[in-house]
Amino acid sequence: MAPSLGYISPMEHDDTAAAEAKIPASGATASEAVGEGSPFEILNPGGVSAYVFNCDHASGRIPDRYGHLGLDDAVLGRHIAWDIGAADVTRRLSAHLDAVAVFSSFSRLLIDCNRQTDHPTLIPPISDGVIIPGNADISAADRAARIERYFDPYHRALDGVLNSAVEAQVPALVSVHSFTPIMDGYERPWHIGVLWNRDPRLAKALIAQLRMNTDLEVGENEPYSGRDMAGFSIHHHGGGRGIPHLLIELRQDLIDTNHGAEIWANRLGLALVALGQQRDLFTIEHF
Ligand SMILES: [Zn+2]
Repeated sequence: MAPSLGYISPMEHDDTAAAEAKIPASGATASEAVGEGSPFEILNPGGVSAYVFNCDHASGRIPDRYGHLGLDDAVLGRHIAWDIGAADVTRRLSAHLDAVAVFSSFSRLLIDCNRQTDHPTLIPPISDGVIIPGNADISAADRAARIERYFDPYHRALDGVLNSAVEAQVPALVSVHSFTPIMDGYERPWHIGVLWNRDPRLAKALIAQLRMNTDLEVGENEPYSGRDMAGFSIHHHGGGRGIPHLLIELRQDLIDTNHGAEIWANRLGLALVALGQQRDLFTIEHF
């Protein structure tokens, strides 16, 4: 079956769409049972697009029991706690393309859903020079509990969405992230980065599509590399399944307003729909 990539006309962001979609994959999760809410959100679960979006760093929220990890609110609003603008763009992409999107509900400082579980920054003791007191010397039990309560259910939800999607067509996984414009004093020149590891199909095609706009500075495996195996989601869910996949990094100052997020959701949505014409991209292949 041909991928379904219908483009729905742009619409303003609607919070009710997010609220209606908090549907756990199966039963209540451990964090819901203790009143923390679901560790994930599935938006537009009936979406028919071949694209499935996920947003590992959608939220800066920390469950009450962790007491803000010893940080003040100002720090929790910074880029180290979440990917500013990434969830906004992802919601709009989900609406424009009629696609399913899966979001993590808690901060990457609590547990980073885009890390291998044995990686030192899974529960970061320090981030961009900020010491995270609540992550210092945590017990093995706390570490295991965070994986069980927050990390595993989110990835099971994404797994479930992809399992359902492959019954209709070969899906493509698009992970949406954002990056801070200045890191360690270096002003990053890219507007967008497209990251990939071994499967070049979707990434090379999207880069070529975006570079048709010569005003855009499009990084390939910048400002981070998809070959950095610290990452988890596209490797596990994309490469592991052999479905086309990539990771998008958007510069935060371009998407930190509704207007900016809409511009980028439109731009990306149109580019992804154009790639949908390349049917040979949507096959299972292991690289
Ligand atoms: Zn991120």
